[in-house]
Amino acid sequence: MAMLGSVLHLSPMVLTITSSTSRSFLPKQSERTKEATSSSLKNCKTIDELRMFHHSLTKLGDVSVTTITKLVARSCELGTRESLSFAKEVFDYSEANVELNGSCFVYNSLIRGYASAGLCKDAILLFLRMMNSGISPDKYTFPFGLSACAKSRANRNGIQIHGLIVKLDYAKDLFVQNSLVHFYAECGELDCARKVFDKMSERNVVSWTSMICGYARRDLAKDAVDLFFQMMRDENVTPNSVTMVCVISACAKLEDLEMGDKVYAFIRSSGIEVNDFMISALVDMYMKCNANDIAKRLFDQYGVRNLDLCNAMASNYVRQGLTKEALGVLNVMMDSGIRPDRISMLSAISSCSQLRNILWGKSCHGYVLRNGLESWDNICNALIDMYMKCHRQDAAFRIFDQMSNKTVVTWNSIIAGYVENGEVDAAWETFNTMPEKNIVSWNTIISALVQESMFEEAIEVFISMQSQEGVNADGVTVMSIASACGHLGALDLAKWIYYYIEKNGIQLDVRLGTTLVDMFSRCGDPESAMSIFNSLTNRDVSAWTAAIRAMAMAGYAKRAMELFNEMIEQGLKPDGVVFVGALTACSHGGLVQQGKEIFNSMEKLHGVAPEDVHYGCMVDLLGRAGLLEEALQFIKDMPMEPNDVIWNSLLAGSRVQGNVEIAAYAAERIQVLAPERTGSYVLLSNVYASAGRWNDMAKVRLSMKEKGLRKPPGTSLIQIRGKTHEFTSGDESHPEMPQIEAMLDEITQAANHLGHVPHLRNVLMDVDEKEKIFMLSRHSEKLAMAYGLISSNKGTTLRIVKNLRVCSDCHSFAKFASKVYNREIVLRDNNRFHFIRQGKCSCGDYW
Ligand SMILES: [Zn+2]
Ligand SMILES: [Zn+2]
Repeated sequence: MAMLGSVLHLSPMVLTITSSTSRSFLPKQSERTKEATSSSLKNCKTIDELRMFHHSLTKLGDVSVTTITKLVARSCELGTRESLSFAKEVFDYSEANVELNGSCFVYNSLIRGYASAGLCKDAILLFLRMMNSGISPDKYTFPFGLSACAKSRANRNGIQIHGLIVKLDYAKDLFVQNSLVHFYAECGELDCARKVFDKMSERNVVSWTSMICGYARRDLAKDAVDLFFQMMRDENVTPNSVTMVCVISACAKLEDLEMGDKVYAFIRSSGIEVNDFMISALVDMYMKCNANDIAKRLFDQYGVRNLDLCNAMASNYVRQGLTKEALGVLNVMMDSGIRPDRISMLSAISSCSQLRNILWGKSCHGYVLRNGLESWDNICNALIDMYMKCHRQDAAFRIFDQMSNKTVVTWNSIIAGYVENGEVDAAWETFNTMPEKNIVSWNTIISALVQESMFEEAIEVFISMQSQEGVNADGVTVMSIASACGHLGALDLAKWIYYYIEKNGIQLDVRLGTTLVDMFSRCGDPESAMSIFNSLTNRDVSAWTAAIRAMAMAGYAKRAMELFNEMIEQGLKPDGVVFVGALTACSHGGLVQQGKEIFNSMEKLHGVAPEDVHYGCMVDLLGRAGLLEEALQFIKDMPMEPNDVIWNSLLAGSRVQGNVEIAAYAAERIQVLAPERTGSYVLLSNVYASAGRWNDMAKVRLSMKEKGLRKPPGTSLIQIRGKTHEFTSGDESHPEMPQIEAMLDEITQAANHLGHVPHLRNVLMDVDEKEKIFMLSRHSEKLAMAYGLISSNKGTTLRIVKNLRVCSDCHSFAKFASKVYNREIVLRDNNRFHFIRQGKCSCGDYW
């Protein structure tokens, strides 16, 4: 019966046989029999042999405590689930029937066996049972018990065992202390681990390694490396390969190449044998530090016939976006006869999805199916991601539907896939129906909304995320939200986001910092933008660009130029984008000579060829300075065909200078290049109007009408106590419209009194003068201004964001309003900022 190998069938047999023989129990055995027993037990290599042995024992009537103990110990040593339950049955039965009062040794065997096999709950139960039967644990029991607690994260039980250790006075035993350090380190209680560690009077390599590995695994990589060097300095302990793997992985987490090199140099000089685990860790570390060449050398040197090493190599290539190289590693593996496992396949599938290569992706899917890897959730998730990215939603959903265990990662792959394919509605629907969301789900949907310019919706989602338990925003979330705030020009919200980042300890790296500089600059708060920029370490060109742009937008041209020069002095290589910032600053600040110098230095000094946009900046600069002829000549000398944006810059300059000829010429060019560009008609008609050429103006209007062109409606946003109010020109739907109208009348009267004359040429409609005055008075920025004045406290700055260029009437109106009501008005249009104080604007009436 025992040969059937079923534990269930065995129990009654053990029961019958031993009970029938227990009466013939012989207290004394000859020494000879004992020896025979021990040696034949040692020869038992399988559970069946153990059962045969047990069977023969009971036949012989040998059920002595010693023999039973040895049998239990041997069964535990085999370490299979079957041998362990056999051991426990023999033990349970004997304890009940043979008056075998379990000894400490037999418990130790059982607890160790169960803990090693990962049956930690049973091991802990055995420990408790031992306590209850009044048997005192010894220095071997504690480590086995603590190891079970560590593996099953049974923190409470472990702490109780610690108490017992102190009570029974084992706290000075090195072996026991090491187990405590290991237990606390594994459970993430590093302070407790360190307390035990610091109190130890003697420490060996195990003590140090437990502590170092504890730090390395818990994002305390710096502490891990520090402790390692302390160990090398202070104590005469030689690290082993486990220590080294932990230290190397800590260097990888720190992405500290210098430290990693130091550790590798130590390994080579210390004579520690370099094993496969260490090589994999080293390769991983060098790749995390972007030293791919060293990693590749190690990979080639130590042979490619190592699965872990290949996997480390491939997954790092994927992380770096070097997908072809990753697939190359897979090919090398196949060629040298190593079978890719699921970790290799994850790299392969993710490479295919990054490459959008459905053909290779399908062949990976085939390999997965042939090798039975489809039961792994993360493999299915990767396949879903791959099919979604390759626009094969049908295939993705076939896998999705078959998955019995859909995790949050699975759902996230679906959402990300929808977003990738531009189906934001479907992503939103899936997001709302998914059973459980994590930070990745929230980040995906928030960034999708921001990309779709649905800024307010993105912020709403972010706010509702705050009420979700256990979901905390990270750097990715706040980056999206900061960008949304910048677009909305919502300063209160921007300040709140910044406060949120500080309060939640979100790391302000250079990317997030740059986003915040940009956000504050777009919200018209250049001071905050600069204070964040000043706090950034490791500024890159993008960070400098954001700061220069912030200064340029706010009209601080000189400061912008100082920043630009500082950046060059610090040895950073300028790119095309930063030149746009610098030239814009010159243009807004009227720094003609400096602008020309910068433009000329682009190619000569910095090797950056000027593009359309840079030429546009120069035209703007010259036009603003009244050098229209020079600007026109500049356009004619361009090495490429000037586009409509460049002509529009010339047209804008002509409007300010009142140069009808050049304006008409520029407008003509624009109408050829970009006939849908309504702004140019408006500008041209303004030029004709100011020159009193009403016939030409009428022609412009007519040609607009014929082409079916309409100015897009102007909309203005204003933030009042954290809420965004949107006004569209002529729209009277705001609930407080009567009060807004009354306020508008009041401002208009005051402004007229001070000499404001409505700029009727801004109205491109065939209506009478009265109607024109009315239409002008309902421009969106005026509605927003009036609403701001009635709904905010005296003295507060009004911040308005307009979608189009602000018209000259609203600009003049705002200047009067700022004077009459003693308010600062910050008006952002699609071109620049207007900081309006006491009847004057920072733009100097040029925009
Ligand atoms: Zn207006
Ligand atoms: Zn202005």
